[in-house]
Amino acid sequence: MMRVDWKNKILKEVDDLRDEIIEFLRDLIRIPTENPPGTNYPEIAEFIGKRMNELGYEVDFVEVPPERFPELVPFAEPKYRRINVLARLKGVNERPCLHFNGHYDVVPAGSGWSVPPYDGVLRHERIYGRGASDMKSGIAAMVYAVEAIRRAGYKLRGTVEFSFVPDEETTGVKNAGTYYLVEKGYINKNRTDYVIITEPLNVDRICVGHRGAIWWRLRIYGKQAHGAMPYRGINAAYKAATLLHLIEHYLTPRLKERISKHNVVPEEAKKSSISLGIIRCGTKVNTVPELCVLEFDRRFIDEDIDDVRREFHAFLESLKLIDPEFKYDLEETYHANPVIVPEDQPLVKVLEESIIEVVGVVPPKVLSPGTDDQRFIVNNAGISAAIVYGPGRLELAHVVDEHISIDDLINGTKVLALTTAKLLGVNSSS
Ligand SMILES: [Zn+2]
Repeated sequence: MMRVDWKNKILKEVDDLRDEIIEFLRDLIRIPTENPPGTNYPEIAEFIGKRMNELGYEVDFVEVPPERFPELVPFAEPKYRRINVLARLKGVNERPCLHFNGHYDVVPAGSGWSVPPYDGVLRHERIYGRGASDMKSGIAAMVYAVEAIRRAGYKLRGTVEFSFVPDEETTGVKNAGTYYLVEKGYINKNRTDYVIITEPLNVDRICVGHRGAIWWRLRIYGKQAHGAMPYRGINAAYKAATLLHLIEHYLTPRLKERISKHNVVPEEAKKSSISLGIIRCGTKVNTVPELCVLEFDRRFIDEDIDDVRREFHAFLESLKLIDPEFKYDLEETYHANPVIVPEDQPLVKVLEESIIEVVGVVPPKVLSPGTDDQRFIVNNAGISAAIVYGPGRLELAHVVDEHISIDDLINGTKVLALTTAKLLGVNSSS
């Protein structure tokens, strides 16, 4: 029988586990899993696997074979291994099965930090380091949410699973982490009932999807000539300049008018957008460049992905009418469809109730401006009971002096603990 005070006992257990949770997070931060290229993946996989073993889980390591690297890891050398860690704790019953997913890779630290990025510095009730928010805190919270239930003396009626994955940060139409686990059937709608991805979307809101994206590489061709006789050439940079002018003053204003009714955060991200990220052009000051390469990032939510493609193609083609010398080719280097799951589903309701109980606010349901691994779980595995909720702060991801407050870490753990107990059910084991 579930006792009436089960919630308080579980919440108290999270408080009692505070130091252990903090130390686990600091240990995770101390393993620099920078991606690209994907450093120390075997070390962190071993560390997490060992901890899950000690906590009584069945642990599996799912490594991506080198022959799949050209397709799944085109950006890194095969010497950087790609290892997923799976941990499973069968409950009284196989179902329902709640699957927690978290990526252990982090973006490179870069420079300008006021603390060492990989020391797990604890200062002023905050933990600092690359991954403190995105998303090693999510990993610590999900592991200790379940642990708190067990140490409080309860046995889960359903089954809980974890996947600790690499390569979320390098995107990809496919990847060596969550995509690969979905492809191999480890995360599958026939065996997985609920999925919670503990990305840093803040402790007081629920993320029910994300925008779509297309990245393009555009090559604009000119004609090489000596810089002393530039009239003999066609300057690819000048062609690019005309194009960029039109993108800024014609295309961008049009995209800004497309404001989504969905609750994308931050507010400005409700608008469709296009962003120039890379320009490569020219080899020598006294040579007219014959090639200019531009890379664009287009984001959208309510638009159909094929309409987005058609619009950009038509835009480029229209430039040819204005300027017959305008020659280009366009390559799509990445795409992700938007993801939106229903808000009126039990997973969202239970999570919402737990956030109200722990944090004391009614959480807004939001959509993330960027993409994340939710796309593989919803779009590829076909699981719509899949949301993103984690204690880190979105605005602290990928920044210098990334950190998390201990309050957020503990509250996030509590919310996930109550959510797990409610979704799977608990028996008193005593
Ligand atoms: Zn992340």
